[in-house]
Amino acid sequence: MNIIAFVAHPDDEVNCAGLLHKNFLEGGRNFVICFTGNKKRAAEFKKSCDIIGARGVVLGIPEFEIKQAQKLHKNLIETIRDFKPDIAVLQANDYHPDHKAVFQISLNALEFASHGKNGWLTKKILELETSAMITYPDIILDVTEEHSIKFRALEAHKTQVEGKSFGNYYFDYIEHKGRLRGSMIGAKYGEAYKLHTQTIKGNFYPHFCGCNKACDIIK
Ligand SMILES: [Zn+2]
Repeated sequence: MNIIAFVAHPDDEVNCAGLLHKNFLEGGRNFVICFTGNKKRAAEFKKSCDIIGARGVVLGIPEFEIKQAQKLHKNLIETIRDFKPDIAVLQANDYHPDHKAVFQISLNALEFASHGKNGWLTKKILELETSAMITYPDIILDVTEEHSIKFRALEAHKTQVEGKSFGNYYFDYIEHKGRLRGSMIGAKYGEAYKLHTQTIKGNFYPHFCGCNKACDIIK
């Protein structure tokens, strides 16, 4: 599968590292676009992506100024159409203004990427889970095999995990969140997502099967 992920900050990608690494091991392609990050944090992000098995790109937009990324709308559409994702993972639409902005800009780009005869409709859109947990997840993926990769990816973000006054909060949190989500599906570790569907607003969308049989309903 082709999976594209849109995240606000270097280290947010750790929240979907189980899914991405699973896809990598299965021969799939992962592409993570991170909206913010100075030179140092961009280098940490790239290292993390190498560990996960993803291509990582940092747009370098300043934190709390993500709205500037709206000017990249056309580039994001082209990127989506070129990459042809089966799944898009979006930044959580949680409390953080950068997260909310990336969620909305990415969702808009996926919508407009799907329009017209050259459109690409991404069939599954997932919202990842940050420290603001999803109340009712739609999907919990068993990431027991991939869990250790999350720690290794997190370790790459030295500026975030070393010398912080709150000690090993991030590692603790990833561990306990993974265990909790795992316990909900009878696995050791899990990764939770909220599912979004792209609704039809007009006649902008190509008919992507065309078989005109009842199975069209699930494609
Ligand atoms: Zn973040």
